Amino acid sequence: MTLPVRVVFKNKKNSSGWIKDGEIILAISSRLKAGDQQNHIASLTRRLQAMASRQKQWSPLEMASGHIFEDRQLAELAAAINQTHYGFPLDRIRFWRQNSRWGSCMVHKREIHISHRLKGAPLPLVEYVVIHELCHLKEPNHGRRFWRLVAQACPDYRERRRLLAVYGEAGLAGDVPAAPTATKEESIP
Ligand SMILES: [Zn+2]
Repeated sequence: MTLPVRVVFKNKKNSSGWIKDGEIILAISSRLKAGDQQNHIASLTRRLQAMASRQKQWSPLEMASGHIFEDRQLAELAAAINQTHYGFPLDRIRFWRQNSRWGSCMVHKREIHISHRLKGAPLPLVEYVVIHELCHLKEPNHGRRFWRLVAQACPDYRERRRLLAVYGEAGLAGDVPAAPTATKEESIP
């Protein structure tokens, strides 16, 4: 996927380029020799095409590699997903020593806990749990509206739920699940 390129020549010292409305616009210095102008056009085009394809491809759900071990990374992931898809009020998200559930959402505190068993887990699984809990900030129950919200950021959430169950059962997540605790927190089945 490459963007169309429009070149304009300007009587200024430097050449510059930017992306606007799906088009690469290059303002090339008219003071340069033709060969240098061609070099500037080629170089700016290459850099801006690369930038455009990064922007196009980037979405939280496509960070398919990498592992998250720290609260800070978790917060970055949640913020990226939340900004892109939802904009729900979230004050804090962190790993929490909970074995009986993958995640929990305390709506009144605007806080999400993610099970420490997901530290270092495959990112698509962590993403699914984060998305799931983010959606509980809006929809407390697992009704149709809830799953529609989840699907907004995670169209393949069914597959990820299945993989999450496999991940848990395979004991890949380390700790043995403890007995469920009776709290008002929302959970992922
Ligand atoms: Zn839930």
